[in-house]
Amino acid sequence: MTDNIKRIVIKLGSSVILKENGEPNSACLKALVQEMAELRRNKELIIVTSGAIGIGKTLLGVSRPKDLSEKQALAAVGQAHLIQIYENLFSQYGIKVGQVLLTREDLQGRHRYLNARNTFLSLLEHGVVPVINENDTVAVDEIKFGDNDTLSAIVASKMDADLLVILSDIEGVYRDPDKREKGVIREVVDDVANIEESATGSSGKSRFGTGGITTKIEAAKIMMSSGVPMVVARGDHPHILARIITEFSGAKTTGTWFISSKKMASRKRWIAFNAEIKGSVTIDEGAAKALKEDGKSLLPSGIKDVQGSFEQGDAVSVKDSAGREIAKGVVNYAADEVKKIAGKKTADIEQALGRKDYDEVIHRDNLVIL
Ligand code: GLU
Repeated sequence: MTDNIKRIVIKLGSSVILKENGEPNSACLKALVQEMAELRRNKELIIVTSGAIGIGKTLLGVSRPKDLSEKQALAAVGQAHLIQIYENLFSQYGIKVGQVLLTREDLQGRHRYLNARNTFLSLLEHGVVPVINENDTVAVDEIKFGDNDTLSAIVASKMDADLLVILSDIEGVYRDPDKREKGVIREVVDDVANIEESATGSSGKSRFGTGGITTKIEAAKIMMSSGVPMVVARGDHPHILARIITEFSGAKTTGTWFISSKKMASRKRWIAFNAEIKGSVTIDEGAAKALKEDGKSLLPSGIKDVQGSFEQGDAVSVKDSAGREIAKGVVNYAADEVKKIAGKKTADIEQALGRKDYDEVIHRDNLVIL
């Protein structure tokens, strides 16, 4: 049966990689790699893996790292071992893996994002399975994704994947996390916000991972806006990946599926989730309505105030008069220029700046309503 999945991102959480005692869960990994090797026959596969810090703890006999640098050291040791595990398991099927360690910055500027994307495409063209983790050894708070659920969602959306699979030690999103017998929500279409609260009960955290269910919901939000389906399921279920692939275009009986009815273009995804925001513009009510309800571009006349210093081509946040962020977009003019034309009519741009390259400060194609 054809399933229309060409590119799939699979995230393996720490609780899939490690057993309770902190040793790598070889049996589970072996089974998953066997399934992934099978999928690789007619799909491109990208893995996002956790477990580096967990394995590092076991290898160095550290149960609680005392500070950030010790945690980073554990990640360095654990990551080396982790990639070896993948390499060994995949080599049995004649498949090569490539290690990619990322920080948030690497996917942020349009230039760097395109560079990273090209590297992934080149790996995939060579038939290599990219194995990604956060670069925990150098990542500090400011440049962190923070958790691999978010990382996997950003990768899946940027790489135009057809499906993101998040494997963990939870069955999916429970109807009532404190009463798991009530079962799992099978399908969420568009409305993630609605389940957000009910999903995060006291037992929402999983064994080793950073985020538990909270970060999975965050990942689901990214995927919803990207229009790419995502499923959260247990990594240790037999034939889990085969089941997921079968269910992709049919009835859902495994995990929790997040499905969006709309699709955002990849440029807009970049603006919404990854562009570094260099400043903001505050707009009046009329402009806010024109943007939100009528899908219009942002013209100088609606702008009341400008904050920060940004250049033409930078991403900025668009705020309403109450200071709420209502959109993000890429500006056609630098901050000092926007200051000069704020409140003015389009016809007056040339007089104010001595030139007029664009009518709009942010064109609607470069604007994402939040
Ligand atoms: N990057 C971390 C590691 O490999 C895991 C982060 C997470 O659990 O989300 O240890």
